[in-house]
Amino acid sequence: MLLTPGPTPVPEFVRVAMSGETIHHRTPEFESIFGKTRELLIELFGMEDAVMLVSSGTGAMEACVTSFTGQKALTINSGKFGERFGKICDAYKIPKVELKYEWDTPSSVEDVVSAIQANPDIDAVFIQICESAGGLRHPVEEIAKAVKALNPNIMIVADGITAIGVEKIDITNLDAVITGSQKALMLPPGLAMVGLSKEAIKRLEVNAKGYYLNLYTELKKQRENTTAWTAATTLTMGLQAILEHIKATGYDKLYANTASRAKATREALTAIGLSIYPKSPADSMTTIFSEHTGKIRKILKEEFDVNIAGGQDHLKGKIFRINHMGLVSDYEAAWAVNAVELALDKIGVRKFDGTANTVFNKTYFGI
Ligand SMILES: *Cc1c(COP(=O)(O)O)cnc(C)c1O
Repeated sequence: MLLTPGPTPVPEFVRVAMSGETIHHRTPEFESIFGKTRELLIELFGMEDAVMLVSSGTGAMEACVTSFTGQKALTINSGKFGERFGKICDAYKIPKVELKYEWDTPSSVEDVVSAIQANPDIDAVFIQICESAGGLRHPVEEIAKAVKALNPNIMIVADGITAIGVEKIDITNLDAVITGSQKALMLPPGLAMVGLSKEAIKRLEVNAKGYYLNLYTELKKQRENTTAWTAATTLTMGLQAILEHIKATGYDKLYANTASRAKATREALTAIGLSIYPKSPADSMTTIFSEHTGKIRKILKEEFDVNIAGGQDHLKGKIFRINHMGLVSDYEAAWAVNAVELALDKIGVRKFDGTANTVFNKTYFGI
């Protein structure tokens, strides 16, 4: 059972949708698939337009940093992915101010506002909606609103790779929202997508940078239902299948189900004495801080067939992360918390009494 917060399991109907012959990307047949997928993608973002890039999520982060920063970037670092925005700025020698936090701590409106007041040349802000390193949710919507009130010309770029397809995002003050194929969209890795506001598109007209990862070159082509370079045809077919499925099930239903699984998991694990790591947990994953992480993960994998993720850098061996993104069955989530409780018994931390499973079910089914 793959319960890591990316890559996530690819559902069978998606694998089937991708199992046909490879078709040529410069054909009316593919243009029709591309056009339908594009419409569904714009609907998923709820934004003015969207572009798909043949790269992993980081490619879209790079394209946004180069195209939306004119003078100076503000990057928010509460973990590996926020740090990455800063590293991209450094690689391009783009001046930046970085707000750095411990990985359990979200950024705040006050910190961002002070940074912008101290650096009036900041013209783009880069932030994760969910920082996957510690599973925290930044108050992106509030930050974006405050930034726009200070200066509406500042571009707000939100990395929503573990948020789009997880929860409804208020995009009112967001200019670019990034996502990738291998997390909440349950596809194999290899596609990145960027939702764009009207203002963002105006900025791209004059400031788009780069050659392969040029968002404006792509946007112009994609508006004609084709791509600037060879399209990831197979992944596009998978994307169409997953987006059609989500639409037919209902976005709100998916979001509500993910939220209740996340809540039930958090309550089940805290009921057996474990502590939630982030101060503002996101619904895409549950992150637990535990000195027994190494043993718990090993037992889960070897004895209960549950693969969960650990931590990186200074959190290696200290946190574990259970995925809630995508189409996770309730019995899978219930089994995962039950397996954690069994593991705690095996390592002599807490006697098994079925609490995790009971609390999960009571919370999830509202009993
Ligand atoms: C996975 C992820 C990325 C992108 O990583 P890639 O390996 O380039 O796909 C970016 N941001 C967040 C928050 C992520 O979880």
